[in-house]
Amino acid sequence: MNEFERSRSSLVSRDQSVIWHPYTQMKTALPPIPIVKGSGVYLEDELGNRYIDAVSSWWVNIHGHSHPYIAARVAEQLHTLEHVIFAGFTHPGAVALAERLIGILPSGQQKIFYSDNGSTAVEVALKMCFQFWANQGEQRTRVIALKNSYHGDTFGAMAVSARSAFTGPFDRLLFGVDHIDAPNGENLAAIRKQVTALKGKAAALIFEPLVQGAGGMLMHDPGHLDELVAICKENDILVIADEVMTGFGRTGKLFAMEHLVNRADIMCLSKGLTGGTMALGVTSCTDRIYRAFLSDDKLKTLFHGHSFTANPVACASALASLDILQEEETRSNIKLVVEKHGSFKEKINGHPKLKEVRHTGTILALEWETGGDTSYFNSLRDELYNFFLGEGIILRPLGNIIYVMPPYCINEKELDYIYTKIEEALARF
Ligand SMILES: *Cc1c(COP(=O)(O)O)cnc(C)c1O
Repeated sequence: MNEFERSRSSLVSRDQSVIWHPYTQMKTALPPIPIVKGSGVYLEDELGNRYIDAVSSWWVNIHGHSHPYIAARVAEQLHTLEHVIFAGFTHPGAVALAERLIGILPSGQQKIFYSDNGSTAVEVALKMCFQFWANQGEQRTRVIALKNSYHGDTFGAMAVSARSAFTGPFDRLLFGVDHIDAPNGENLAAIRKQVTALKGKAAALIFEPLVQGAGGMLMHDPGHLDELVAICKENDILVIADEVMTGFGRTGKLFAMEHLVNRADIMCLSKGLTGGTMALGVTSCTDRIYRAFLSDDKLKTLFHGHSFTANPVACASALASLDILQEEETRSNIKLVVEKHGSFKEKINGHPKLKEVRHTGTILALEWETGGDTSYFNSLRDELYNFFLGEGIILRPLGNIIYVMPPYCINEKELDYIYTKIEEALARF
């Protein structure tokens, strides 16, 4: 669907008269593409054009669109119980999902707190940490985060994210965060010094294990991250692993923290949790965190909750997604994506147009050489985006970085088609 066709779509013109889209400059953005159907890795627009969803619809879709098994489980749930207040009440799906998650999460995660999305999962994690100390009479007001971090768009999540063009209008309203360099094996002494200086002041470290997503698909060595986690533990600083993007197979293992030896006190999950079907967030924690809130003093309660906490339909889709994720076929599909990404990386590594090729699990990232100008607003971004759309592939670059993060059900032929188009783009831009 080209710009002319889009301008004639009545769905698009109705959209434009009433809708304000996320991360979109509404004055200059091209009209949105009206998607009416999804099946497997494909999305279909109003005119019947099909696009490979190579970014898993903002990283959430892990099993393909309109998955019949998830759809059936969701429909069944809708006819049984669509929602119930989650304070003072519970339901089978929430309990089963919590049991199931605790069974597969890295050791030590023993309690599940539900919310609605990745940002709220992070908000809950931060509030747990601040109040963990407050409940024990300690006022800790700082948090340690990594440079280039991204943890969401609500205020707490924004505060622990890197300062950028996106946070600019709000920077002065955000609480104090120490953004440190990601550990790289050479800066450990400096990091140890910075972290030790925050002993008793920092409530927590929050980080994205292995891959910093929105910050540009930056990838870090698990051994170095392990050392950072160890330093925080030595200084009695809590550790939050934000696995909103990396969870549920993205890095080749079920959770990115499985690549590390040390364990987090708190983990944040969302995106792939429901297979990309429903909005759901999870903050899991250790028994140590949970116990700090048990008290006869009501003021030590974690006062946090959302209207749709643990929505039964969302829990049903998460349980269905986990069923598929744990099938042998899915594991071998993930393996295929990991291997194919690996060989394509070898093939194009060192290409003169590329500054770097990065690969972790099912995520492949290519950073274009731009001669210094690496801003998100670089025009190369729009050219690449439109080129791939024209070829029937949805790849949404982060500035000069394009990445392939497909649903696991993508097949060899579809992956090869994407790689071929990337090579064409390399020849052209
Ligand atoms: C996307 C993302 C979030 C925010 O999740 P939303 O559901 O978009 O609010 C938080 N942390 C990480 C690492 C993410 O990639």
